[in-house]
Amino acid sequence: MEKSIYQTHTDVNTLGEFGLIDHITKDFSLQQRTSLKGPGDDAAVIQNVSGATVVSTDMLVEGIHFDMMYTPLKHLGYKAVVVNLSDIYAMNATPTQITVSIAISSKYSVEAITELYEGIAQACRFYNVDLIGGDTTSSPKGMIISVTALGQADPADLVYRNGAKPGDILCVTGDLGAAYLGLQILEREKQIYLSHPGVQPELEQNQYLLERQLKPEAQRGAIEYFRKVKMKPTAMIDVSDGLASDLMHICKQSNVGAFIEEGKVPIHPDTENTAISFHLDPITCALHGGEDYELLFAIDESDLEKIRFMPEVFIIGEITEAADGLKLHTTGGNIHNLTAQGWNHFKEK
Ligand code: ADP
Ligand code: MG
Repeated sequence: MEKSIYQTHTDVNTLGEFGLIDHITKDFSLQQRTSLKGPGDDAAVIQNVSGATVVSTDMLVEGIHFDMMYTPLKHLGYKAVVVNLSDIYAMNATPTQITVSIAISSKYSVEAITELYEGIAQACRFYNVDLIGGDTTSSPKGMIISVTALGQADPADLVYRNGAKPGDILCVTGDLGAAYLGLQILEREKQIYLSHPGVQPELEQNQYLLERQLKPEAQRGAIEYFRKVKMKPTAMIDVSDGLASDLMHICKQSNVGAFIEEGKVPIHPDTENTAISFHLDPITCALHGGEDYELLFAIDESDLEKIRFMPEVFIIGEITEAADGLKLHTTGGNIHNLTAQGWNHFKEK
């Protein structure tokens, strides 16, 4: 399927490993003053600054983390970068450099890799990070992409998962569950395509959900806002596994409990409608669907005034004592235990 979308298929062997590396790195220029040496030498060089360096790595494996049937390579490159930058922002740090390592099978042409790198370049430009190196190798089957992101912060600004305390307010930067439903739509259309190859996929009317799945963004605006109003969350994490599971990480590491108010969890109308059409409960999708890449953070009560004018923020609950556990206060006035494994709206009622 990959071959058909490219006019030409240039075997990567015509360029060779070094030719391919030159080809994919030639249009990247260094913007960060700390990037002293980019691709092309034995190692990249970063100027030390007075502060802390934050490092995060993520690996994406074809067939596990992405499916080539419905993932445009440009989006894949963009997303591979964004999910790493999201981890840097979740530390309240500013991302500055990335390295990208790829393993590719012979089914990938030079055109395909070029498209992947167009997405990587777009993310680099948008988030102002430099590509400073990586590795290129072959794989017997499929593609593997590993991105390492580096960032900078004043050590005093760093926000960990372990600083939340009872009384803190729980906030999230955007709506949840959309990326999960985007994936459900893509999986459904894939099955239809596999059984009826002539049928056109129904994707146009699902643009918002598909974009949330295929081309997520990292929450740079939140970190810039914290800096502007001179405040710092007590704990923070990016929502990659799902709200319940990621809140659980904060609670475990901070040794606290928490409650979420069902009615306050932001859910996009498209998420709501599509969940219902899939016979899924929208709040279950918001609590357990992953890959939203919003930031979940706790703030001291006294900072409530400071987040008032944050462009995108939703107050969804509160941090409690560890003994209180993790709870969901439903709109119907009930209290349920919230588990990372999954919470069943119907079973507990
Ligand atoms: P070495 O043999 O020393 O590992 P390589 O030939 O693997 O060197 O890489 C040469 C240069 O190109 C290095 O600076 C490396 O960081 C960079 N590079 C290799 N692959 C990639 C890639 N996929 N993306 C970006 N830079 C890369
Ligand atoms: Mg190498």
